Amino acid sequence: MKTVAVFGSTGSIGVQTLNVVRRFPDEYKVVALSAGGNVSLLRKQIGEFAPLRAAASCGFDAENVRVYAGGDAALRMAEDTEADITVMAISGLAALAPLLAMINKGGRIALANKEAIVCAGDIVLSAAKKSGAEIVPVDSEHSAVFQCLAGEDMRDVRRIVLTASGGPFYNGREDLSLVTPERAVKHPTWNMGAKISVDSATMVNKGLEIIEASRLFGTKNVDYVIHPESVIHSMVEFTDNSTAALMSYPNMELAIQYALTYPRRAKNAGVRAFDFSRPLTFAAPDEERFPAPAIARRCMEEGGTAPAIFSIADEAAVELFMKKLIRFTDITGIIEEALCINEIEKVGSVAQLFELESSIKRHFGV
Ligand code: NDP
Repeated sequence: MKTVAVFGSTGSIGVQTLNVVRRFPDEYKVVALSAGGNVSLLRKQIGEFAPLRAAASCGFDAENVRVYAGGDAALRMAEDTEADITVMAISGLAALAPLLAMINKGGRIALANKEAIVCAGDIVLSAAKKSGAEIVPVDSEHSAVFQCLAGEDMRDVRRIVLTASGGPFYNGREDLSLVTPERAVKHPTWNMGAKISVDSATMVNKGLEIIEASRLFGTKNVDYVIHPESVIHSMVEFTDNSTAALMSYPNMELAIQYALTYPRRAKNAGVRAFDFSRPLTFAAPDEERFPAPAIARRCMEEGGTAPAIFSIADEAAVELFMKKLIRFTDITGIIEEALCINEIEKVGSVAQLFELESSIKRHFGV
């Protein structure tokens, strides 16, 4: 039986992780759960999975479990937790400290959070190298690339091609400045948390994923293509002009499950096999209307704190947009402004990134 710690258990990925674990009661035992503010769902999860430890960012108490409460609860719980597999599904840069604490223990990290590796890629990867922790991506695109690369040599890879559904507004001709938070969080093919749904609508998500892929797979040859059906999750093009793709109906539980069972596959994936009578379509990206991936690529090329500024400024902008303080189209403007006013520096420490986060958030009044 493998022990599993789920950070961000009350979110979209966390809940789906527990759905997967529920299907394999003889194979996985949940030993730790962490939430932000959704204490009522956390209590239900504690009742069902009986972990040894539970954390919430707010005031919180529970019986029959060691409780961690307050702003740094996830980090303190991580420091005390031993698990064979850690699912890191806290959203935003808040995942970085508990992620590093779990990486330092070794073991497997099923990594859903993308902001931490975008902001602090070198720190995260060198910590994993030092402790021997094995990072298995959960993000569906990166899980697909990871699977397409099995047994391959990176010298034979010409480029990674991420797929992008395009989000809810890609095909329309509507005025994007009028898009409301209620509409932006409704993704056409995936059911996700609010922040990543807005990121998908602005295509910032694809920008973050380009940087994430460059970090995880050690190449800057990362492109993307619009694929509205979200059936091909991503591709790897090789030097002999062959291309490997991973396909399935869009369902995050499959990617989560693979990160738990890797290198094996389980039979009970909860997803039916693809029906090939259905057409698949592709289109070139429209970077005039959706400039975020191009900005992200520039940040990837520039390196240093540029990817962190991209990610942190987006987090601030999405918060302002969700509170209806800025327009949908202001989000990429805020990212550009943050990149203009902050000098790009070498990333030296986690503390430097948290200072950068405070300074960017202060500047934009978040
Ligand atoms: P959600 O917003 O649904 O969930 C986020 C989780 O993190 C919740 O459990 C939330 O707690 C917790 N949380 C938020 N802020 C803090 C904090 N400061 N300290 C501790 N816990 C906190 O997000 P998703 O599940 O959609 O996404 C999680 C991560 O996975 C993101 O980085 C996202 O980019 C990535 N991802 C998500 C995908 C998806 O399909 N959803 C696909 C690929 C990647 P609470 O709700 O209790 O407040």
